[in-house]
Amino acid sequence: MKILVLNSGSSSVKYQLLNMDRQIVLASGLVERIGEATGSIRHKRFPGTDRNQTFVEEMPIQDHATGLARVIALITAEQTGVISHVSEINGIGHRIVHGGESFSAPTLVNKDVIAGIKAQIPLAPLHNPGGLAGIETTLRLLPGVPNVAVFDTAFHQTMPPEAYRYAIPKDLYTELKIRRYGFHGTSHFYVAKKCAQILGNPFARTSCITVHLGNGCSMAAVKNGQCIDTSMGLTPLAGLVMGTRSGDVDPALHAFLADNRKLSIREIDAILNKHSGLKGMCGHNDMRDIHARITEGDADAELALRVFCRRVTQYMGQYLAILDGTDAVCFTAGIGENDPEVRRRCCATLSSVGVRLDEERNAAAARGQITEISTPDSPVKIFILPTNEELEIANQTMEVLA
Ligand code: ADP
Repeated sequence: MKILVLNSGSSSVKYQLLNMDRQIVLASGLVERIGEATGSIRHKRFPGTDRNQTFVEEMPIQDHATGLARVIALITAEQTGVISHVSEINGIGHRIVHGGESFSAPTLVNKDVIAGIKAQIPLAPLHNPGGLAGIETTLRLLPGVPNVAVFDTAFHQTMPPEAYRYAIPKDLYTELKIRRYGFHGTSHFYVAKKCAQILGNPFARTSCITVHLGNGCSMAAVKNGQCIDTSMGLTPLAGLVMGTRSGDVDPALHAFLADNRKLSIREIDAILNKHSGLKGMCGHNDMRDIHARITEGDADAELALRVFCRRVTQYMGQYLAILDGTDAVCFTAGIGENDPEVRRRCCATLSSVGVRLDEERNAAAARGQITEISTPDSPVKIFILPTNEELEIANQTMEVLA
């Protein structure tokens, strides 16, 4: 079985073609700057192997259809390709950011599903149109190949109302569906399942806190295999401090900035999404740069890191409290997997509540490896569990097709 996984944004498409029988990535790549004067495609065949080759093309890419047509040509051409004909692709898994309350599981795409994804556009105006463009394009370019929509929000749909409802007038929920949805669900689900595997427990009897720290950051509380709370909200702005996103702030901030800086709601939204977080505090959104600045004595970088880690610790406390017993804390994504100092700071004050980090194991953890980093006597285990959203999307696509 070969599954093509597409993550289509407003002006970009990330793709992977996976051979599911051998659990390997045959090809991967990124189409960028769709709709701009010059776009680019970075295509890799056999990534992560000694046969790895990268091909870069620059040219105008009018729309998603143009970009994806070129990707399909790259995947099938003799020089750059990994299959000889598109008929070898058994299914296509699309990452769709927002499924609203309509989708709580991966779903085979048909007309109704497309309408359902469209209906969520008000909740994800920047994200769902890209995903839809991806689906509409593959329906046209690869007729006969089944498409499956995998939703970033789906895993969190098991949250109880006391977790997802905001304390705002009820009609804002009933009429506009304003509530907590949560994102990164595919990653949280994948990592929580891995955690169960490593513990040797059935997923339905595994409880853990998953900590996804990448460009975007979020956490989830998983009780007996079901998400019961997560840090992102109506939008992916809520919760943890991120590269350029503020995470939680006083909800009166919008009114305050509108009054005192005469900013429009759109401008304030841009400040909180694009110019805040680590970048807003110290000018850098990449954690590696922040460590470099701290080494040079930069006080803003040090404070940004403190705010970032403290927020994670605070959410950890919240989730330990509502889980009422948990098996493990699982760190994942770019920062979670690779940054021992962040993990150390996040766990530094959690020893008394049963989360005891083994500093040596933490510091020695090899990149990209599943590693236990708690002390042998820690009541709650701590793991580094590399996430793999593309593999999870491909797995879910296979399950739907089966
Ligand atoms: P995305 O959310 O885009 O999938 P990733 O999960 O790849 O992002 O995480 C990207 C972030 O991971 C980068 O911004 C960087 O801060 C961080 N990162 C990557 N490698 C390291 C490292 N070795 N040490 C610390 N942080 C790292």
